[in-house]
Amino acid sequence: MNPTLDQAERLDADDELAVYRDRFVPIEDPGVVAYLDGNSLGRPLLAAAERLQDLVRHDWGSRLIRSWEEGWLTLPERIGDELGRVALGAAPGQVIVADSTSVCLYKTVRAALALRAGRTEIVTDTANFPTDRFIVDGIAEQTGHTVKWIASDPWSGVRTEEVAAAVSERTAVVVLSHVDYRSAAIADMTAVSRIVHDNGGLVVWDLCHSVGVLPVELDAAGADFAVGCTYKFLNGGPGSPAFLYVNARHHNDFRQPITGWIGAADIFGMTDRFQPAPGIRSALSGTPTILGMAGLEASVALLAEAGIPRIRAKARALGRWVIELADAWLVPLGFTVASPRSDEKRGAHVTLRHPAAESLSRTLIDHGVIIDFRNPDGIRIGLSPLTTGYAEVWHAMSVIRESARTRPAAAGSGTSR
Ligand SMILES: *Cc1c(COP(=O)(O)O)cnc(C)c1O
Repeated sequence: MNPTLDQAERLDADDELAVYRDRFVPIEDPGVVAYLDGNSLGRPLLAAAERLQDLVRHDWGSRLIRSWEEGWLTLPERIGDELGRVALGAAPGQVIVADSTSVCLYKTVRAALALRAGRTEIVTDTANFPTDRFIVDGIAEQTGHTVKWIASDPWSGVRTEEVAAAVSERTAVVVLSHVDYRSAAIADMTAVSRIVHDNGGLVVWDLCHSVGVLPVELDAAGADFAVGCTYKFLNGGPGSPAFLYVNARHHNDFRQPITGWIGAADIFGMTDRFQPAPGIRSALSGTPTILGMAGLEASVALLAEAGIPRIRAKARALGRWVIELADAWLVPLGFTVASPRSDEKRGAHVTLRHPAAESLSRTLIDHGVIIDFRNPDGIRIGLSPLTTGYAEVWHAMSVIRESARTRPAAAGSGTSR
């Protein structure tokens, strides 16, 4: 069977979310055939450009320092609450925008350890994203905890049974990604949280590859803490700040290590000693990055309009379309579909493996098919339901087919890293 461009165009014509593509800044570069990297850097909204203009000219340019009192100081929790409502299944007062994912992870893991004093182990998995592994390792070195590594299969993701086997009365905190950055395998948040809690531990979830594209139900899943970035599926822009979630049941005892003045109860009291602000605000440390949040406000509003259920449905359908094209065209050329084939188990990207993936990825990018290479041999195809189209994917996959055909299949990669 040969999936046709006609078929792709029919899928685009039937796509309820296709209208949202016009809300984004058009890609002016005529060399771009397909942008399949919205899971690394989401495209900007037109509204973000307007908001930035207005922010510079009006709020900053004219209202000047008065803007802190006129909304800037509360922006981190206002966007946090809205993000919680629209995309995280979190009741108000538990989500706040701050720092980077790495720093939020540091804060939440340290806070979790403090809540489980006397327990000696931090559990995470070997396939977790580098920053998660590095932060966990660094904390263990600072605090004297032991890291208990789950040797997970990067292509199937961490399994619930593996977590069950790793946790014990020694476990203080478990740090896991909700969706695996390589394979898009989805972890069972509810089941894992229950197992960890049954053993008396706490869980920190990294939502970088699920927020904005999968239904996340933090409150319902009983999650303790979560962190995530906003420049991927949330289209917040390069370096837009991250968010962190602290379940309300931990608010009374939540103590994070970076006790700066913006997280204090009385910011302008210039008090002698740090007194934490009540609730989620105590997660803050320094001055919020107001400019960095401009794109995020617009994109959370768009998310609310489009709705996570429709976004999720399209992410599944786009994933199926990539897999159908891969089976028809690329598997015969030596590719394998490394992401879960089941819609239930797959997030919003599909990774294809090929022995020459690294050099092939460079060729693809040169030909305007913007994907990600993921070490050691993965080509990651990111699908952003608000901007990615079916014909766009069809064209990209035919460029991958042509590039793979016209090169020796076993040429290997030029460099290794
Ligand atoms: C992208 C990503 C990050 C990014 O961390 P930053 O501190 O925002 O750079 C962290 N974790 C995962 C799983 C990611 O995919």
